[in-house]
Amino acid sequence: ASFNRIGQTDEAVRAFLTLNEEGARAAAAELDKQLADGGERGLLFGLPAGLKDNMVTEGLLTTCASQFLRNYDPIYDGTAVKKLKAAQSVLIGKLNMDEFAMGGSNENSSFYPTRNPWNTDYVPGGSSGGSAATVAAGQVYFSLGSDTGGSIRQPAAYCGVVGLKPTYGLVSRFGLVAFASSLDQIGPITKNVEDSAYVLQAIAGYDPMDSTSANVEIPDYTSALTGDVKGLRIGVPKEYLGQGIDPKVKEAVLAALRVYESLGATWEEVSLPHTEYAVAAYYILASSEASSNLARFDGVRYGVRADNPDNLIDMYRKSRSQGFGPEVKRRIMLGTYALSSGYYDAYYLKAQKVRTLIKQDFDHVFEKYDLIIGPTAPTPAFRLGEQVGDPLTMYLNDIVTIPVSLAGVPAISVPCGFADGLPIGLQIIGKAFDERTVLRAAHAYE
Ligand code: GLN
Repeated sequence: ASFNRIGQTDEAVRAFLTLNEEGARAAAAELDKQLADGGERGLLFGLPAGLKDNMVTEGLLTTCASQFLRNYDPIYDGTAVKKLKAAQSVLIGKLNMDEFAMGGSNENSSFYPTRNPWNTDYVPGGSSGGSAATVAAGQVYFSLGSDTGGSIRQPAAYCGVVGLKPTYGLVSRFGLVAFASSLDQIGPITKNVEDSAYVLQAIAGYDPMDSTSANVEIPDYTSALTGDVKGLRIGVPKEYLGQGIDPKVKEAVLAALRVYESLGATWEEVSLPHTEYAVAAYYILASSEASSNLARFDGVRYGVRADNPDNLIDMYRKSRSQGFGPEVKRRIMLGTYALSSGYYDAYYLKAQKVRTLIKQDFDHVFEKYDLIIGPTAPTPAFRLGEQVGDPLTMYLNDIVTIPVSLAGVPAISVPCGFADGLPIGLQIIGKAFDERTVLRAAHAYE
């Protein structure tokens, strides 16, 4: 059914980069066999899933939507992938994204942009645009995306599906191609909150292969979905409903807050005063980490090597010039500059200090409130091509997701209405490792 649906819809949506038809059929047949032999059903038994193409999969191309990795055929599965297989999900294929997860519209894919299933003239968001679009188009039951500054939540909002960025360290990054290692986090994109809880249950947990993996006890997530939010205290940052926020988005968020009131929760306006510096700090830090992480793509170890180099340096130079797209080059240059001697203190170190202030903003609000609620993005999806020439405008789409990433706390985006036929997302932000409260509140609203 999944491949049929892909056949019917993917010419228009273009969510997939690689299909795993043979592998999926073999895996499904194996599951049937195990069941016939008296085996137990796993948590995600037989459920068709898609993966963002920056998660390495044994024997299945992993391109990061980059020309550099167009032939990269990994020899192992990342931890999250292994866990999905252990839960008996069936891997349908690999999903389109902005190259190396840098972008917010899928237009930075070096292959083709994915389209928003609600209106194919519009972007699906990004960078996990394929992961959100495939769920919205009903091609798979769920997908995994990765979120560095909003890349799960923002496309989920644009495509009208549920996207969860877990607490930094909850899901292993082993086998996730690194963009900005202090921010990257894998999470589920699903049709509803209950599915999100199930998928999180399957993929969360300590992994010695990831040095930043959190060694914490994994609670039961689905039992948190009680429907009861009575007495929950919600803070609503004034910075998240102010300047630059589309009035229709603001109205949808206020309507959602009225739903919470009717369910017995309370909300008050709060302040996250350093919000205005978050985007600037993020683009220094994420680009710095990217410039370091992407140094491994040199034409020797992974992917494509340029033809006919004059010497070793020329081989590096040509491979990188030909392999990376313009946005990736922009970030490598920005990050290398910010880290270089003489500029390090002024940019990188300063941005790290701003990051601490932003985290303290959240700590402060969470002393009094259980959750923070606001929009996921300032506007609904925009038209394909509308922002491509304007990276700064593109960067500002993440103004309300980036602070959460810098603070490392969990957040979910759930659909909360439409503007002109395009979905709007509500962002529910929780304390570190308190996914249960985030999921409970999202589920009660949904
Ligand atoms: N849009 C943001 C960026 O371009 C976030 C990307 C992400 O979360 N991977 O960096």
